[in-house]
Amino acid sequence: MRNVVGAVCINCGAEYEAGDRTYSCTKCGGVMEIIYDYRYIKSQLTREKLLSRKEYSLWRYLELLPVEEGSKLSPLRVGWSPLYRVEKLGELLGLQNLYVKDDGLNPTASLKDRASAVAVVRAAHAGMSTVACASTGNAASSLAGNAAAMGLKSVIFVPERAPKGKVTQLMIFGAQVISVKGNYEDTFRLSAQAIEKWGWYNRNAAINPYLSEGKKTVSLEIAEQLGFKAPDYVAVSVGDGCTIAGVWKGFKDLYALGFIDRLPKLISVQAAGCCPVNRAFTEGKPIVWMEENTLADSIAVGVPRNGEKALRAIRESQGLVVNVSDEEILEAMRLLGASSGIFGEPAGVTGTAGLKKLAEQGRIPGDAVVVSLVTGNGLKDAASAQSATGEPLGIPPDMDLLTAAIAGLSATRIDGIGVP
Ligand SMILES: *Cc1c(COP(=O)(O)O)cnc(C)c1O
Ligand SMILES: [Zn+2]
Repeated sequence: MRNVVGAVCINCGAEYEAGDRTYSCTKCGGVMEIIYDYRYIKSQLTREKLLSRKEYSLWRYLELLPVEEGSKLSPLRVGWSPLYRVEKLGELLGLQNLYVKDDGLNPTASLKDRASAVAVVRAAHAGMSTVACASTGNAASSLAGNAAAMGLKSVIFVPERAPKGKVTQLMIFGAQVISVKGNYEDTFRLSAQAIEKWGWYNRNAAINPYLSEGKKTVSLEIAEQLGFKAPDYVAVSVGDGCTIAGVWKGFKDLYALGFIDRLPKLISVQAAGCCPVNRAFTEGKPIVWMEENTLADSIAVGVPRNGEKALRAIRESQGLVVNVSDEEILEAMRLLGASSGIFGEPAGVTGTAGLKKLAEQGRIPGDAVVVSLVTGNGLKDAASAQSATGEPLGIPPDMDLLTAAIAGLSATRIDGIGVP
């Protein structure tokens, strides 16, 4: 990879070549980061060249990705999700320049597709036939889907509380699913031992430094979609921490290339029932294990493996942290859906919930350019969504009964009729 210099441990600074088996630091176990040759990339890529490209997927940014020359690319259309200007929601939150990046529109319906696309391309190039990971759901379904598209097999470890919709996706994509009777941490540990024993390609974000490189493409897109401008704030839901670290890396890459002239502040949003990263940030202490008490399963991560990377990203960006309750998450789900037509899963709308809270506290200037990242689609977890909605109006097929029932409705949904 002419564009990649190598990998460096974020913990001890040890340097490595970036190869097929580059996972965690072999000296200290720390998470690694991929380092690029920006001078070389600058000679290959300009803003104009990007703008003229017809490739509307994450492969649009190949010069900035750790993909070996001549690799077969995954055919699924991962990335290039829409960045909507959401005026109604902005009005409700008092933010005049609010955008939503809907990454629930990826092929397997979450932002994780960006990481999995890079993982399967690297695995295939390394000549490996089986990929594996442990996941609360989305990393798994995205790996299974992207593996299927690349003609690879997948073995997926999920904790038993993973929502049905997500496990169903895995089965449909032909994965071998192993449902572990334990929490995410137990599941992760078992998968690590199995991967070691059988030598599968490891798509655990805790270990594989190429994954946050895939995730960073969301920021490359945001900047390009805003006309090569960084927003003032980006709100991201945080579990393991790989996503927010990737978001930061994407903006830093563009800054290093001179494609944007400033960097955004990150807003790290966690569930109040599981917020080890935000707690460490607020208290200025190391990350300590926490229970996983939230309905936002995708960010219920008690032991964040990329927590240090996440903390560094929040600090470097001079960002903010905020925790939200499950009720606030469900409220954000309704608000986003009813104001904008965007349906996110609980973890998918957690960023929006945090933003709402900060906006209400007056901690975000009203004229700031703000992007809320919706990281996963609501149809994946219909059960949680149902707890956010009421019941529909049930009625026999009779016009008089309908008229009587409608007269008693609140006028908020239907214009011109009902009780104001
Ligand atoms: C994985 C995930 C996140 C958080 O990403 P981390 O890298 O675990 O911090 C947020 N939302 C959704 C929908 C996810 O699947
Ligand atoms: Zn190290």
